[in-house]
Amino acid sequence: MFKKARIKLSIMYLAIVMAISVSFSVFIYRIVSFEIRSRMFEIGSRLYIRQGGFSAPPEQGMFFVEDIKETENKVLFVLIYTNIIILTLTSFAAYLLAGITLRPIEEAMEEQKRFIADASHELKTPLTALQTSIEVALRDKKINLKEALFTLNDSLKDVKSLTILTNDLLSLTRYQQNGLKESFQKVNLGLVIDESVAKILPIAKNKKINLKVDSSDSIIKGNRESLAKLVTILLDNAIKYTPEKGRVEIENVTRGRSAIIRIIDSGIGISKKDVQEIFERFYRADASRSKTKAAGFGLGLSIAKSIVDIHKGSIDVESEVGRGSTFIVKLPIE
Ligand code: ADP
Repeated sequence: MFKKARIKLSIMYLAIVMAISVSFSVFIYRIVSFEIRSRMFEIGSRLYIRQGGFSAPPEQGMFFVEDIKETENKVLFVLIYTNIIILTLTSFAAYLLAGITLRPIEEAMEEQKRFIADASHELKTPLTALQTSIEVALRDKKINLKEALFTLNDSLKDVKSLTILTNDLLSLTRYQQNGLKESFQKVNLGLVIDESVAKILPIAKNKKINLKVDSSDSIIKGNRESLAKLVTILLDNAIKYTPEKGRVEIENVTRGRSAIIRIIDSGIGISKKDVQEIFERFYRADASRSKTKAAGFGLGLSIAKSIVDIHKGSIDVESEVGRGSTFIVKLPIE
């Protein structure tokens, strides 16, 4: 598909360049031809005068007709030759340029295809499990109320987890489309942190995690709702990947033209190999799955990264396996 589009675009580029080149050549030919004829006429007139005006006075075009024709032919030849060279060179350049023009579109389409494939794959597994458990329950003629309720409860859990997955997928596409710019306004990061902490506090309490908050006023320009989501994702992960009675800390400071948020935990940590991958869609480190058995689809950090990108900031992680992780978000101050 892209090969055809590339050839079509190359032909269009070529047609534009050749239309300009041929029109320019016709224009040059006319001017040169006119110039040659008037010059020849002038020379002829001078010669006639020098020779004492033996013959009849010259009229334009009477003198050196052969020479004029020959010179015009030479000019024509040079122009045609130049156009052939332009055609050849432009063909290569147009093909190259068409490739460069189409590359970002091709990459975006590839990315979209990958996204659909990944999302379908992630949706398929829980859907198949759900279907199987319902079918098994329906086939069981002797099923009692207790067993039926158990199956229903189990199915409800799967449906809830599917809802989380689809919501995450929708968030990711929304943030990746970069359409939030219009809703940028002044946001106090300190308040955003306090709100996210209030939301996440019950989970921390449930795990007996010591959650320390050191928030301060720091105004940036951004989308409030997405910034709240960013802080919530990072806090949620910090609690999720920290064993009971652990410690999680969140703070924000202003350094020069940047607002910095740090989320520090005393959790399981991330290996060097995994640190390279965790911001990739659907990536989950083996250790986090086996050690904490924490639920998740590996979308949180991709969403967080997309939000940071929209705000032209950066997100980094420093981590040591078994000792904990620190996520550092830098956002430019307006
Ligand atoms: P999820 O938490 O749903 O698996 P995320 O995209 O939020 O997905 O995180 C990707 C992976 O990064 C997690 O599966 C986990 O392995 C690792 N990770 C993220 N945050 C932490 C953290 N604070 N401590 C240890 N590992 C983490």
